[in-house]
This record gives sequence, C-alpha cells and structure tokens, in this order.
Amino acid sequence: MLYINGQWRKAKSGSTLEVYNPATGEVIDSVASGGREETEEAIQAAKEAFKTWKKATGQERGQYLAHVASLMREKKDEIAETITKEMGKPLPHAEREVAGAINYVDWYAEEAKRVYGETIPASHSDKHLMLLRQPVGVAAAITPWNFPASMITRKIAPAIAAGCTVVLKPAPSTPLSAIKVFECFHEAGLPKGVANLVIGPAEDIGNVLTKSPDVRKLTFTGSTQVGKMLLKESADTVKKVSMELGGHAPFIVFEDADLEAAIQGVLGTKFVNSGQTCISTNRIYVAESIAEEFGQKLAEQAAQLKVGNGLEEGVDVGPLINKQAVEKVESHVADAVRQNGKVLCGGKRYDEGKGSFYEPTVINYAHDDMKISTEETFGPVAPIYTFKDEEEVIERANHDSYGLAAYCFTNDLGRGYRMMAELEYGIVGINDPAPIVAQAPFGGIKESGMGKEGGRSGLLEYLEEKFVSVGTGK
Ligand code: NAP
Repeated sequence: MLYINGQWRKAKSGSTLEVYNPATGEVIDSVASGGREETEEAIQAAKEAFKTWKKATGQERGQYLAHVASLMREKKDEIAETITKEMGKPLPHAEREVAGAINYVDWYAEEAKRVYGETIPASHSDKHLMLLRQPVGVAAAITPWNFPASMITRKIAPAIAAGCTVVLKPAPSTPLSAIKVFECFHEAGLPKGVANLVIGPAEDIGNVLTKSPDVRKLTFTGSTQVGKMLLKESADTVKKVSMELGGHAPFIVFEDADLEAAIQGVLGTKFVNSGQTCISTNRIYVAESIAEEFGQKLAEQAAQLKVGNGLEEGVDVGPLINKQAVEKVESHVADAVRQNGKVLCGGKRYDEGKGSFYEPTVINYAHDDMKISTEETFGPVAPIYTFKDEEEVIERANHDSYGLAAYCFTNDLGRGYRMMAELEYGIVGINDPAPIVAQAPFGGIKESGMGKEGGRSGLLEYLEEKFVSVGTGK
C-alpha cells in the first residue's frame, strides 16, 4: 500500500509489484506501485501539512516520535521478520537493525526539543543580531534495500524533529519493511501529510521528486552512480541535498595489533549482511610479517560461518539480494583468481535451491589491479593485501574516489592517532569494527557523499539558517 495524506491507498492505475524472498526465490507479497501522479499528490500533501507542522513545538514533535519509537518496540519482532523475509539477513541481525532503527527515533524524539538558534554579538549598540534555524520544508527521501528499516528512520526521524514533512521512496525490493515502519507513524497519530510513502518505479518517482520546486530537500542513500544523477536532476531547483553513497573500506592490521580482535573485526564488517553494507570491509591490508597467519586464521573462521535462510536458527550469512548481485560477486572473484589471487575458502555459489547465495570467501595475494580493489563488491568476499610500512599503507588505503569508512587495528597509540588523521574517510574505527551510533554523525567524503546522518549534524541537514538583524532604535 501507498500512504499519502494519512490514508493507505492503492495505486490509481491498479499497478502492483511483487516482493521476493531472496533465500527461496518465492514471491512473498505484492504491493501497490504508484507513479508520477501519486508522487505529486504526496508532495502536495506534505506541502500542505508543512504549514502547520513547522509551527508545532519541538516538544510536540518529540512526543509523536517517542510514540512511534514505542510502537516500533512493540512490533519489533514482526518488523525484524519482515526484513529477513524480503532482504535475507539472518533474523538476529534483522533484530539488531530494528533496535538501531528505534535508536534513531528515540534520539531525535529528544533532539526535537533542542533546535536552537544563536545570538550573535553586534558591532553596533543599536542592533540585535540573531541566527534562526528553521525547517527546510518538504523533504524527499530515497532509501536502499540493505537496511530497509534503519535507513528510513535515520532520515525521517530528524526530518520530523526539525519540523519538515517527508515523502519517502523506499527500494522496490524491500517495501514491506517500509510499510511496517509507516504503520507505526499512522498508529502514533502523526498528522496527515507529515510522512508519506510512495512505492513504485524509481525513474518516475525520482524525477517528480527532484524536479518539483515544492521539494526543498533531497536525502538519498544508495549507489554513487544514482546519487550523481539525482544531484544533477536536483540542480535545476537548487535543493538542499544530502547523499549517503557507496564505499570501499580498507581494514588495516598492523603487526602490533591484537590479531584475534582484528579477525573478529573483519568477520563482522565483511560477512554481516553478506557483505552488502556501505561500510563493509573491501580491502584488508595486513602487515607482511603476519599476513600468512592472519589469512589462514581468517579463512578457518570464515569457513565455519553457516550460510542459509535467515529464518533458520544458527545462520550467520544469508542470501544476496538477487541473482545479479551473485553474478557481480562471481565476476570479481573470477578476476581476482585470473590475476593470481588464491582462494583460501569459499569462492563459489552456495547451492540452496532458488536462493541467491554465495559462500563466505577469503582471497589471499590480492593486489591493487584487481577489480575488487576499486569497485564495490557488495558480497561476502574478503581480499587480503600485504604492506611493508605505515606510509605505504596510508597511500594505498586512501581510495581515489570513495571515502566512507576505514578501520585500523594497532596497539600503538601514536600510530592510532596518525592513522586517524591521515585516512581520508568520513568514519574511522580505530580498534573498533562498528563505529556507528545514533548520536554520532555518519557519512562519507569524496564520492561517498555529502552531509551527515545521525547526531546533531543529522538534524542540521533539515534546517535552514536565517540571519536576522533588528535595529533597536538606540
Ligand atoms: P541504488 O541502486 O543506488 O538504489 C538506491 C535507491 O535509489 C533505491 O530506492 C532505488 O530504487 C533508487 N533509485 C535508483 N535509480 C533511481 C532514479 N533514477 N531516481 C530515483 N531513485 C532511484 O543502490 P542499492 O543497490 O539499492 O544500494 C546499494 C548502494 O547503496 C551501495 O552502493 C551502498 O554502498 C550504498 N549505501 C550507502 C549507505 C551510506 O550510508 N553511505 C548506506 C547503505 C547503502 P530502484 O531499486 O527501483 O532502482
């Protein structure tokens, strides 16, 4: 169903789209598929709602969000199961995603009360200077399938907290999780038009959202390729934009690191979500002296990971989102093997009927000319590179175009600080493979994006600054 102006609706054309379970290849549901007309209606509903929503107090907006969070908590099992069924991640990981999604709502429920302005010291005694922070207006949000609940709340919660109204277009492979989240908005009694959901063909919906002068903000999470196109399309109406795009994370292990902690870190950042994460490790740089031992130990543990349907108990690695994703992984592995990479474990599809599975794979002797070294694999493949010294690894770790997340494991404090300064990434984890929390800014630099989500920075993305100078007469 679509959700426009507080109403659950079918598409006017009667169109629907089917939703598949990537673990079984089966159709699990079908949902209404709207187009240009529904998108325009949603924008107009959001524009109308903005007139009153922007005047609601921060406390009122926060109370609505707190109610949404409590409803999500009540329905957490149902939302998690929906995520697993439509995108494949193992149920415990889906539960973690839902907890993360709720964290964003909780955090912005509080932050709604803190949309502060500033006073600026005047240079004339007869003036009073102020900076107001006001909501941008109607925000359009476009989200991917890999975190189908948390990517939504990470955008909508700060938008609503700031006083904006929203039109969301989720990924067509995971509309059911979006519907579940919107059910909570509906049940929380959010005023009509404040949050709208349009599911359907990307080009049609995207084109209306980017071209509309009534949409004042576009927030996108997805590939760099699509992000660049949306940026161009948004230029005509000079929208405020934030872009959370692709990544190619290096994971650097120095000889002084805690090897076991580093291995656990790679297992977590590489194989969680079957490697389909923007901050997933893509290149593992290991100091020459420990690389063989590291590779063997990592492969031993990766080979133990249980692949299968995410609804089954004990499964660590679910399917990839579809067959094309499996083909991309295959092409990266084939290219690496052709260029003398050695497969230490995995290296092929995992045969499970009609599901789209690939075995957790570790490749040794990777080098910079392989496809896997520059393109996002978005699959469970861990290539290991070696390096001689700090200077060399910094140079190689800094990717030409991507700059989302980087990880570094070392027990040398000074080195940790040097790496933190030199790595050209928006997020750096030093001895920490999970540098994401609701209260901190998340986002990339270079072609990994612009703008932040999470924390105070995430709220500022939905606010416009207005300078006011008041002449006081004397
Ligand atoms: P994608 O192909 O770029 O799609 C993302 C969203 O954009 C989907 O809803 C998609 O709908 C939509 N879209 C595609 N073409 C569009 C168009 N012309 N107009 C409007 N919308 C359009 O990316 P994905 O494969 O879903 O997600 C994986 C990518 O997202 C990876 O590159 C990953 O690194 C990145 N990502 C980044 C972050 C971050 O925070 N930086 C987080 C998660 C994922 P359709 O599916 O219908 O095309």
